[in-house]
Amino acid sequence: MTVPQRGGTPAGGTVPRPGGGLTGTVTVLAPVEGVAGVRTWERLGPAQPDALDQGQVYPLVVGAGWGVGDRDGFELVKTLARALGAPLVVTRPVVDEGWAPAEMLVGQSGKRIRCEVYLAVGISGDPQHMVGVEADTVVAINTDPRAPIYGRARLGVACDFRRLIPALLRCLETLR
Ligand SMILES: Cc1cc2nc3c(=O)[nH]c(=O)nc-3n(C[C@H](O)[C@H](O)[C@H](O)COP(=O)(O)OP(=O)(O)OC[C@H]3O[C@@H](n4cnc5c(N)ncnc54)[C@H](O)[C@@H]3O)c2cc1C
Repeated sequence: MTVPQRGGTPAGGTVPRPGGGLTGTVTVLAPVEGVAGVRTWERLGPAQPDALDQGQVYPLVVGAGWGVGDRDGFELVKTLARALGAPLVVTRPVVDEGWAPAEMLVGQSGKRIRCEVYLAVGISGDPQHMVGVEADTVVAINTDPRAPIYGRARLGVACDFRRLIPALLRCLETLR
């Protein structure tokens, strides 16, 4: 597998590298209301990126970056956003590639969003994007464990989104 190497300047410092050859199973846990650290939220309905209200604080926003690789990758992230009922936003390279319209752009030259959780998929964490993201918690899916986004993320999965998102979608299907 070839991992695109565009941008994504490594942040300084020592970052643990994922072990090779690790395998695991995905366990679906039913959310338990009232337990510290566990929160659930209502589904917001279909994602409406064009109608993104910059004044609203969203429970969850999904962001797609250049790391989604192509239009199919972008559609996979869009499917996850729809399944979660979360708005979908993008970085500039995604707009430049023509995978998404400019209305979905977040950052210095785009919209600003406010949310409790920002799920960043294939996003390096460049300041020109992150300046538009006001989030309590950033969760990152990025193959490069040294990507700057991990300096901002509270949770991260250093893997190919193409492996993780189908598993997440299956989990969501199980919960329905
Ligand atoms: C004047 C100016 C204004 C700008 N304004 C904006 C703006 O408003 N908004 C904006 O977003 N940008 C803006 N930019 C561009 C900005 O500087 C960055 O280039 C851009 O934000 C990087 O986008 P990215 O994170 O999607 O791409 P990259 O930096 O290329 O990062 C892609 C990431 O995807 C990861 N990846 C690759 N393959 C996979 C995979 N299979 N699974 C998971 N992860 C993977 C890589 O490790 C990498 O970290 C501006 C730039 C300039 C000069």
